[in-house]
Amino acid sequence: MASTDLHSLVGQTAIVTGSSSGIGEAIAKELARAGADVVVNYHGSERDAQATVDDILAMGRRSFKVQADVASESDVVAMFDEAERQLGPIDIVVSNAGLQRDAELTEMTLDDWNMVISTNLTGAFLVGREAVRRFRKKGRRPEVSRALGKLIFDSSVHQTIPWAFHVNYAASKGGLKLLMESIAQEVSAEGIRVNAVGPGAIATDINKLEREKEGGLESMLQLIPYGRVGDPVDVGRAVAFLASDASDYVVGQTLFVDGGMTLHPSFKGNG
Ligand code: NAD
Repeated sequence: MASTDLHSLVGQTAIVTGSSSGIGEAIAKELARAGADVVVNYHGSERDAQATVDDILAMGRRSFKVQADVASESDVVAMFDEAERQLGPIDIVVSNAGLQRDAELTEMTLDDWNMVISTNLTGAFLVGREAVRRFRKKGRRPEVSRALGKLIFDSSVHQTIPWAFHVNYAASKGGLKLLMESIAQEVSAEGIRVNAVGPGAIATDINKLEREKEGGLESMLQLIPYGRVGDPVDVGRAVAFLASDASDYVVGQTLFVDGGMTLHPSFKGNG
């Protein structure tokens, strides 16, 4: 029986990559809070992944952790196999894993470049491709959702705002924008909804050094019209919305969760 609450994810199963920390952890918990069972993917800390799993189990949902490098084709396939084996067909996939390796252009090594592109862009391709394959195999489950499947990418404001000294990261997120939109164009006729969130400055490990250095927080706040750094849960709630039937007519969009960072605040005084 379909829930009358369009925000409900009860009866659905989700995979969230990179959900042992930061935004991914918040996404996993918000999906669980809305009723989903959640597979917690991690690459680094098994202990942190278990903490996310424990929080989800405490909400009365099913959950387990699985280690996988999203840049590895065999790891990604094995992760989906294990997810289906333990929790059944997958309805929601969130490709969140990502990292930065910052350097001035002329100091950026090929390793810095390849590490960021292979995780943020190739990883998103591998996870997105596998999600679509599994959604097709699963078939429709109208009792839990109107869509055949929901695929959500964690992009960034830097899919549109150029970012000096972070050219690898900006290139990965710019590529992710068209990856997401092109997949959406290709598969939406089958009932697969593909969207992205575009976080601005969210307080996580990825920008801890930046925020905590002398004057770092102040200069960050100058870029945020709404006047605060975001919390991971701000993004988690947006993803839960995009995963639910409440957003059923939202296809191929990036929902910026950025306190207005993409509004070009440097122009607010008449340019
Ligand atoms: P984070 O460092 O806390 O989380 C990133 C997660 O990805 C970690 O759990 C890490 O282990 C995982 N990961 C890294 N490489 C992986 C791999 N190869 N395979 C599997 N998992 C891997 O940082 P975060 O801020 O939570 O970042 C999450 C996502 O949000 C990233 O895609 C990032 O680009 C994006 N984002 C963050 C911000 C921000 O301000 N924090 C802004 C825009 C976009």
